Amino acid sequence: MPARKKRRFDKLLFERLPLQITNTSQAPRDDDIYYRCSRCGSFLSSAPKQSVICRCGRVSIDVDYVRLFITDYTEFEVHRLLDDDTPTLRET
Ligand SMILES: [Zn+2]
Repeated sequence: MPARKKRRFDKLLFERLPLQITNTSQAPRDDDIYYRCSRCGSFLSSAPKQSVICRCGRVSIDVDYVRLFITDYTEFEVHRLLDDDTPTLRET
């Protein structure tokens, strides 16, 4: 595996995990796990401090109910953050 360089704030490095999610309960959740909506390209923290939703609204997390909502699983990706910096979160 090649050496990974530190990226700037707006160029965080993510590694897509080879997961085929067919149910929200299968999605891993951790501080360095992020969900990506391939439709709009938004990254969402899997363990957000407040509810988050992607730009097109197809992937969202409701922290009050601890629930992940996925409209289309074929457009849902799980990524692992390969950087220590705090990423940009699109929060509503
Ligand atoms: Zn989206």
